[in-house]
Amino acid sequence: MSSETKEVCCSLTCAGSAVDPDFKREIAAICGENVMSCYQCGECTAGCPAAFAMDLTPNQVMRMAQLGLKDELIASSAIWLCAGCETCATRCPRGVSLSKVMDACRQAAIKSGKPLAEPNIAKFHEEFLRQVQWHGRSHEIGLIGLYKMRTRDFFSDVISGAQMFLKGKLGLIPSRVKGLSGVRKLFRKAH
Ligand code: SF4
Ligand code: SF4
Repeated sequence: MSSETKEVCCSLTCAGSAVDPDFKREIAAICGENVMSCYQCGECTAGCPAAFAMDLTPNQVMRMAQLGLKDELIASSAIWLCAGCETCATRCPRGVSLSKVMDACRQAAIKSGKPLAEPNIAKFHEEFLRQVQWHGRSHEIGLIGLYKMRTRDFFSDVISGAQMFLKGKLGLIPSRVKGLSGVRKLFRKAH
């Protein structure tokens, strides 16, 4: 029995879910991380500040990626709740950057065209990138305004937003970085 056939049989027995044996290669192609190097020690989950809110712990994300449980993984909220803080990467004895794996899963989720578990977080990411493309950095007021328009969520975080504004943390006028043309060139290349 080939190793890929073994994986399919195991996942059907263990999870009852469709298996995509190419998913680990898809992840590697997107972000360069080899999910097979994870040996499930759980150090990433123990240190992750967002694990309490995730529907899958970070080490479960890795295990599902190894098994090719793509559909379940890209439908999870965990991939969107990762804050990209890299605490897991600093703790991982195998040098795995889970935030890159999470990013790859987000890209696969968007590419799939299926409903996202956390569509508002995806919108936030898009608006953040729009700000970086326009100004070379985030302009918080612009980001909040566009995000609120897209999500129609006008009233959450109003008090904390007002407090930040009163403390001068939110500038009305966007500032632009030097070398903005270089930043925009990167975006054109990425598109
Ligand atoms: S810390 Fe690294 S090796 Fe351990 S479970 Fe997490 S990703 Fe896998
Ligand atoms: S990068 Fe993501 S998965 Fe890793 S510790 Fe931070 S929030 Fe958790």
